[in-house]
Amino acid sequence: MKPAMATEMEEKKQMVLSLCTCTQCPSFEDCGEEGGYCFPAIGKSGCITVEEGCICGGCPVYEKMGLEHLYYCSRGSEKEQTGT
Ligand code: SF4
Ligand code: SF4
Repeated sequence: MKPAMATEMEEKKQMVLSLCTCTQCPSFEDCGEEGGYCFPAIGKSGCITVEEGCICGGCPVYEKMGLEHLYYCSRGSEKEQTGT
């Protein structure tokens, strides 16, 4: 990956993490992760497996990035769930 692209990706990731509302979600488990599971460079959680509701629909990132799925923590990033 070109350095410029890597920087862009990192900036986007930081934007996603700063807006992410996962820590307020009933399904969230605190194992030291920061959320942002919808983002391809982050993806699935290493500890969340039980789906007890998903508040992604109310997250600013959801609209901003045109997301269409839910439960990114247990099912994988938007990209993974879209299968592209
Ligand atoms: S859409 Fe969901 S996983 Fe993505 S940043 Fe928002 S709350 Fe986190
Ligand atoms: S991805 Fe959805 S279900 Fe998982 S912690 Fe974030 S808001 Fe909750």
